Amino acid sequence: MINKKILSLPGDCIGPEVMAEALKVMNWFSSRGLINFEIEKGLVGGSSYDEFGTPLTEEVIKLANESDAVLFGSIGGPKWDDVNYDLRPEKGLLSLRQSMGLFANLRPAIVFDALVDASSLKPDLVKGLNIIIVRELIGGIYFGEPRGIKQLENNQRIGFNTQSYSTEEIIRIARVAFELAGKRNKKVCSVDKANVMESGVVWREETLKLCNQHYPNIELEHMFVDNCSMQLVKSPKQFDVILTDNLFGDILSDLAAMLTGSLGMLPSASLGSKNQNGKMPSLYEPVHGSAPDIAGKKIANPIAQILSLAMMLKYSFDLDKEASLIDDAVQLVLSENIRTSDIFEGVGKPVGTSEMGDAIVTKLDIIAEN
Ligand code: NAD
Repeated sequence: MINKKILSLPGDCIGPEVMAEALKVMNWFSSRGLINFEIEKGLVGGSSYDEFGTPLTEEVIKLANESDAVLFGSIGGPKWDDVNYDLRPEKGLLSLRQSMGLFANLRPAIVFDALVDASSLKPDLVKGLNIIIVRELIGGIYFGEPRGIKQLENNQRIGFNTQSYSTEEIIRIARVAFELAGKRNKKVCSVDKANVMESGVVWREETLKLCNQHYPNIELEHMFVDNCSMQLVKSPKQFDVILTDNLFGDILSDLAAMLTGSLGMLPSASLGSKNQNGKMPSLYEPVHGSAPDIAGKKIANPIAQILSLAMMLKYSFDLDKEASLIDDAVQLVLSENIRTSDIFEGVGKPVGTSEMGDAIVTKLDIIAEN
């Protein structure tokens, strides 16, 4: 049996509720003798702050680096609104990404046939949509120096940040996009603002050079970010893989998420560079936050967390067949109108978090036996 060491970090509010359902799916794989998951658990975010006075401990960083992959829930909530900026729950995730060297964020935007009406766009624009955004995650303006807030004369202040990307940083993330596109429809749209930003000029030239030299089978298109945001709304199916920087990726991936209609359905992956033993640091998490407004009500949709597990099987362990089992089980559940309240469309009664997890496990049984 395949053995995998997983660090589970449920986090705050609905994080532990949806993580419990992903653990059911992991147990299903173990009980079927397909994959043996050795699961460590840790605290992160607000729950870590409450216990240890910090949103991320050295112990958790060590466990993350020793694991084959990290499954992350979600963090944050109003309870920690007054905590010092550097100790806020969100800082725990940013620091974990940095300490694991997770520079590539993969966010698929997939519209399930059964949920085509949940999108705010017309069904024919989004039916069958399956795109993926590859966002650079640990560079650019969110981390660039100098940064800060300066007090000026006359009671004026100035806030400033720096956007910069080096050849190495661009090539590292562009490779991820080209490799991914090679396994899909072989199209990459690289998004920048090269018409007004020098960092965009370098981004554009380096991606083009890399593509010409090493990925001649990939069709590379460049697009300005303002146009890309329009095109995503006008005709989203024109895209396959969108490659972009940290800031633009943050915005475009939320826009793309809304094309699918539900935050509770969207998984993501954050990946680092393989080491000499071929091991790649990786963390998988739902796109949604900790949803404090519904925490404790047992109604959160666990599908994004469960699909994050499917991404882990695919991208960290090359277990494409096993990942498809999960995707198919989710499709089946949705096609039978088994829905949590966030995706409920008035047929029958919405199910709770745990019932949704159970329904997916039941479908896994059915698929495996056929
Ligand atoms: P959110 O994603 O938590 O919630 C937005 C809306 O979507 C809410 O109405 C919520 O009830 C609903 N929702 C989200 N996930 C759902 C699910 N699985 N099932 C059903 N409904 C769901 O975003 P927010 O309200 O802006 O942020 C809440 C907290 O989450 C904040 O503290 C924020 O900083 C944090 N956050 C964390 C992450 C992360 O852990 N990576 C990401 C985004 C936001």
